[in-house]
Amino acid sequence: MKDIYDVIIIGAGPAGLAAGIYAGRYRLSTLILEKSAYGGQAVLTSEIENYPGVFNEGPVGGQELTERMRAQAAHFGAEFETAEIVSAEFDSTVKKLKAQDGREFSARTVIIAGGAHYRPIGCKNEERFVGCGISYCATCDANFFAGLDVYVAGGGESALEEAMYLARVARRVYIVHRRDKFRASAYTVERASRIDNISFIMDSVVEEADGEDVLDTLRIRNVKTGEISVVTADEEDGMLGLFGFVGMEPETGIYEAAGIELKDGYINAGEDTHTNKDGVYAAGDIRIKSLRQIVTAAADGAVAAFEAERYLSSIG
Ligand code: NAP
Repeated sequence: MKDIYDVIIIGAGPAGLAAGIYAGRYRLSTLILEKSAYGGQAVLTSEIENYPGVFNEGPVGGQELTERMRAQAAHFGAEFETAEIVSAEFDSTVKKLKAQDGREFSARTVIIAGGAHYRPIGCKNEERFVGCGISYCATCDANFFAGLDVYVAGGGESALEEAMYLARVARRVYIVHRRDKFRASAYTVERASRIDNISFIMDSVVEEADGEDVLDTLRIRNVKTGEISVVTADEEDGMLGLFGFVGMEPETGIYEAAGIELKDGYINAGEDTHTNKDGVYAAGDIRIKSLRQIVTAAADGAVAAFEAERYLSSIG
């Protein structure tokens, strides 16, 4: 490990890994920090078919795609460390990052690519049933629900795509969406509508989860009529599944504390990825943007590395 890197990238999702590939090819000394697993939210996506060039007689898995990106960044010289950054200091020429375990990292530029984490469904008893009926990752947990009834909360791209994945193993998948129109693209809605064992429960939210040791009961409220439906697992099944895909929340608290400007909770950085601090850039889902996709995250990573290289050349 170096005392001072040219660039430290926080987050090893598609934005951070793309930044690592570009920074490595600019021959900048590059360290990528990730608090847990590499790949970011993309790893949780069962099938990716809209990232250009990856569709080859079928979609690619998020895990495989991001593992290829990670290997590519390493090939061009990026170093990796597992570290959860808990505080940052961006006001000096050398920026300092502190990890939860007390380690400190320093760099002349920082690319913040920490992404976002899943938003909880917001139903009663949610935390109690995580791991015993409630999940946020179909790729990880679908097999636990083979042959069972599964409910999916949400109406975006994730909810519908992951519902289609779950429908391959579950008996029936019920998508519970709070409005009468999906946020997901028309193409994805059409595909989900054609699957026999997917049903839509519109204008509704999951209000409460219940059960003894495992989830076996849900209370679903129609937001227009106020009517509550109680669904219970078949006696033979003994268990229901509930998957939450109700959007993401950015992880920006520590950056706000370090003086980085936010807008609606996201880092206020435009297409050039510049934040309000010199030498600090924001890439991917963590910055304000209109389209949060792997392709736009990767594009941000490339731009951020380019901007970091320009800044480093300017300070000599
Ligand atoms: P999203 O697009 O923000 O959709 C969240 C969905 O959950 C919305 O339908 C929203 O309802 C609903 N929702 C939000 N809060 C809720 C609550 N408290 N209770 C019930 N429902 C709630 O999130 P996402 O689907 O996770 O996608 C995140 C980003 O990743 C998006 O930009 C998406 O396009 C992208 N993505 C892309 C792909 C792909 O292209 N292959 C795959 C997955 C995700 P309303 O519609 O009423 O607001």
